[in-house]
Amino acid sequence: MTRINKPKSLYIHVPFCEHLCDYCDFTKLQYFRNFAIKYLITLKDELESYQIEELDTIYVGGGTPTSLDDDLFLQLINLVKPYTKGVKEYTFEANPESLSINKLKMMKDGGVNRLSIGVESTDDEILKMINRHHNFNDVKIAVSNARKMGFDNLNLDLIIGLPNVSKTLFKKDLRNILSLNPDHISCYSLTVNPNTVFFINKIEEPNEEFARDLYELADCLLKENDFTHYEISNWAKKGKESLHNLTYWKDETYYGIGLGAAGYIDNIRYKNTKNLNKYLNKDYIEEKEVVSDKEDKTYFIMLNLRTNQGISLAKYKEKFSEDLYEKKKSQIDSFIKRKLLVLDDDKLYPTFEGMMILDSLVLDLID
Ligand code: SF4
Repeated sequence: MTRINKPKSLYIHVPFCEHLCDYCDFTKLQYFRNFAIKYLITLKDELESYQIEELDTIYVGGGTPTSLDDDLFLQLINLVKPYTKGVKEYTFEANPESLSINKLKMMKDGGVNRLSIGVESTDDEILKMINRHHNFNDVKIAVSNARKMGFDNLNLDLIIGLPNVSKTLFKKDLRNILSLNPDHISCYSLTVNPNTVFFINKIEEPNEEFARDLYELADCLLKENDFTHYEISNWAKKGKESLHNLTYWKDETYYGIGLGAAGYIDNIRYKNTKNLNKYLNKDYIEEKEVVSDKEDKTYFIMLNLRTNQGISLAKYKEKFSEDLYEKKKSQIDSFIKRKLLVLDDDKLYPTFEGMMILDSLVLDLID
């Protein structure tokens, strides 16, 4: 199935961090100014090579984009500026300790209208233990400065299942986060990957039951506070769902720029190299996968079912010329009976319990 429309979303990866956290498996590098200077020159070149015209969303993530020195940060903002006309949502990721007034001002002037701040925990001892260099007071200051600067769309990130975080402590995290009145909250479950300090230290991921309980705790408390659980790990106030991330979950195409970034253009999913030397030599793409019809269906089901919007059966039929409900009737009916899925007219979407075991549901719905 060929996609002919140009993507409307752009992801830009800035891999530098002031320090490296013990659990982190993202594409990241210790910040060195000289590398960052070269990186920005190459990033501009890669960006221009795509001849991007019109965008709806831009997301600058990392790494830690705010780790750049102010002059380089301004260079980054100016590099993205030509693509911001008409953009509905323009997000920057930030760490609390490097979200300075200067950088907030540069972002505001550059058209950024959403910030995603890595909080991870609100307990200063836990933050020290996972080698984060901020404390909860830094988060309060960062949020307050962002509000004063006029940012009215703030996401705060938490990690679910960090070691030594009991249900009681996690509940305190949620209450602390809520006290800052964010517009969006993300809670991602801890994964322990090779090449991390957590892996070397044999730190374990939370078991499924405990993680599920923490998600349920988050869901109850956040719903009581007017948040909607719109994706497995994401809650938003009305109208503050992340448009950019919904691009991924609706299985729409997007540009991915920068070290280790992934993109999806014209029925091709690609991943950029994670090797800085290769990247600086403009050898950007490491892997390309032409998405087959079967894979296309799998991505469509797997991604759309992550959200409370679920799958539009009509859209599925239009795209793949087959009726998903007719094809998988017995499985879908059984999931509905077990209160894992809901079928509402054209829309097939997961319940909370369905979201918690989504992988196994998806396996039964694909060929
Ligand atoms: S968690 Fe964020 S700040 Fe920490 S090393 Fe990873 S990308 Fe950098």
